[in-house]
Amino acid sequence: MDVNSELHLINGVGEQITTKLNYLGLRTINDLINYYPRRYDDFSKIEKIKSIKPGQVTVAVKVKSTTGHYARKGLHITDAIVSDDSGSTRVTWFNQPYRLTSFKQDHEYFLTGKYELRYRRFAIFNPVVEAVSDFPVNTARIVPRYSVTKGISSSDIRRTLKKITSIINNIPETIPQEIINRYKLISRAQALKDIHFPLTLEDLKEAKRRLGFEELFMMILASELNKKEYQKSNAISINFDEQLARLFVQKLPFKLTDDQRKAIWQIYKDMTKQKPMNRLVEGDVGSGKTAVAAMAALMVINSGQQVAFMAPTELLARQHASTVNLMFKSIGLDDKVGLLIGAMTASQKDEIRKKIQTNKLMFIIGTHALIQEKVKAPNLALVIIDEQHRFGVKQRQALKLKANTQPHLLSLSATPIPRSLALTLFGELNISRLIEKPIDRRPIKTTLLSESQLERHIEAITKELKEGRQAFIVSPSIDSHPIYSVNEIFKWANNRFSEFKVGIIHGKLKAEEKNKIMDDFIEHRLDILVATTVIEVGIDVPNATTIIIFDADNFGLAQLHQLRGRVGRGEYPGKALLVYADNKTPSDRLRAIESSNDGFKLAELDLKIRGPGAIYGKIQHGLLDLRIAGLDDAKLINQAREAALYFVNNNISLTKYKQLAKEVSILQKVTNLN
Ligand code: ADP
Ligand code: MG
Repeated sequence: MDVNSELHLINGVGEQITTKLNYLGLRTINDLINYYPRRYDDFSKIEKIKSIKPGQVTVAVKVKSTTGHYARKGLHITDAIVSDDSGSTRVTWFNQPYRLTSFKQDHEYFLTGKYELRYRRFAIFNPVVEAVSDFPVNTARIVPRYSVTKGISSSDIRRTLKKITSIINNIPETIPQEIINRYKLISRAQALKDIHFPLTLEDLKEAKRRLGFEELFMMILASELNKKEYQKSNAISINFDEQLARLFVQKLPFKLTDDQRKAIWQIYKDMTKQKPMNRLVEGDVGSGKTAVAAMAALMVINSGQQVAFMAPTELLARQHASTVNLMFKSIGLDDKVGLLIGAMTASQKDEIRKKIQTNKLMFIIGTHALIQEKVKAPNLALVIIDEQHRFGVKQRQALKLKANTQPHLLSLSATPIPRSLALTLFGELNISRLIEKPIDRRPIKTTLLSESQLERHIEAITKELKEGRQAFIVSPSIDSHPIYSVNEIFKWANNRFSEFKVGIIHGKLKAEEKNKIMDDFIEHRLDILVATTVIEVGIDVPNATTIIIFDADNFGLAQLHQLRGRVGRGEYPGKALLVYADNKTPSDRLRAIESSNDGFKLAELDLKIRGPGAIYGKIQHGLLDLRIAGLDDAKLINQAREAALYFVNNNISLTKYKQLAKEVSILQKVTNLN
């Protein structure tokens, strides 16, 4: 048995537990070892009941009795009387009726919770419970809590891990010994053991420091190695034609913002070099990234080279194509622009491909079908990736050029990489930021409201629809959800807005169907569009002024910000109604999004609330797999950076460190075209 063995091979781990661990995405022993606790409860300072004071307390108690009742509809109360050898106290849980049976009479438990006066009685309210029998005597009482699903508990995970301690103890080292020594890190094996079974808070701290260092070190190393590689490879130098740039700007229907100018200038400067550009343009929704991309493409085409512009969805690709076509028409270059998407017929695609291959089309806009379907662009010199986080590693690799030059790479993103992160971790990446908004954009008014409060807004929305505006209604896309599935919401919308035309769009529709519905909405044959997050990115319908998002807590901050960016894009102000279920209260995240319209600020906030992994981790594995390291730990970041640079600058080969080399090369691929 080794780290790659499947979980059912562990002695004493039955099929039932294995199935449940599989639910959590854990298949191998390695998966389990790398499943870090979400938080820790500290049961180490046990107090006697006689001496507890109001505030957070931990006691070790025996259960005397438990009772449960409904105080009113929707409020269940479980009361228990518990005691130790010094006295007894009351314990109360709200809406956790299962405590009645799980908290067993005469059994012993550790409880941690708030001891306070409520309803004229002192009690420990809503405490966390841990069975004393789950702990071998005399061990620590810092209890790891894992993220679990129904049917499996943190102690199941703990018990399973306990059975493989000998494997954990023998986990090989990944970081070179000299670095371990220099930064006084504990071994990988020790760290993994302590992250799951910390004896003291000090042990836990050291385990986190070690694992955090490792994450940062690898990520910075990967980025620095990429940078070095980039600096070695060649790219085609793009001529800067000032007159052409001026002419193009003159023909634009708007005046560029200073940030747009600056970004374009930086791109031109990058591309005149014979080294491949690797630049990210970050700009909040509506900040005008498309125009920046178009101007980058302009210079490349003017130099006789080709450009590929990739969007995450066909809807967006089509939208970009029509925007770019308009812009290029004004200077007579629109016949160089072509769209290539999956929805086209085979012969249409063939024709486009031929034109690309023979240099008749110089600016190709499409989705990643563009890459998957064997496009040969002999003079490809610039790749533009819109909403870059939507692209996987493989898709990027597929864009590699056969020639010995690399295309310049321009990424556009509305999900900003927080500044702290960009500076410390992405040394290879140059960033332009579009902070200034195009002048006529008004902030979107965001309101949090419960479902029943939503009713009060129906009239106002109806009025706006009657005045000719349009609305989006977003479902959290739970297929079978009894209330919030896109189909249920479609029914609701048809019912509440019966005098208007309502359409529905979601990921399961065929591409042609999606295109048709989107066109119907854009051309106002539909008043309301009920949608899943397929509309999240980039969709531009200036006449849409209202977006209702159901079960808003189900979305990430960045996602909500993107979604509300779908409205208020024209001359009319936009409003976003974020709806939460009646029996819930809005989360900190929702409050944050209500109070700020600044995508950069929200990204920093999301980082604080959820950690970096949560922002990007789900979207693109590997890009930001910082599960332990905090970005506010400047000292640790500096040390990891120093160690990584020491490696790169001294040309130390990674071949000696197999595991390190493997993981770093995976990370490298995420941001590199190689
Ligand atoms: P995003 O950054 O979200 O991709 P877009 O590039 O789609 O934004 O631009 C949003 C809208 O703003 C488009 O309709 C575009 O024509 C318009 N726009 C872009 N730049 C400016 C500007 N400098 N002034 C006014 N409108 C602009
Ligand atoms: Mg865009």
